[in-house]
Amino acid sequence: MIRRDGGVCTALYSDGRRCELPGTDVDHVIPHSLGGSDLLENLQLLCPFHHRAKSSSEGGTAAALTRKSVHRKPSTHPALDD
Ligand SMILES: [Zn+2]
Repeated sequence: MIRRDGGVCTALYSDGRRCELPGTDVDHVIPHSLGGSDLLENLQLLCPFHHRAKSSSEGGTAAALTRKSVHRKPSTHPALDD
């Protein structure tokens, strides 16, 4: 798989250019959490930058929503109570 991808990150920039950084991370195209397999066709090489960007976009939304509600503080301040 590393040989198939030429040892280079397989991510594409938005203008269609291919990232040419060394691919050091093996990424699941479809993440395990969505039923992705460990077969070669579901694996791709990414550089650390693109791997991090992809991972955060996959798991980030739900986690961010949870964090936001957990950290919401009561709207009244003790000093404002009569
Ligand atoms: Zn990359």
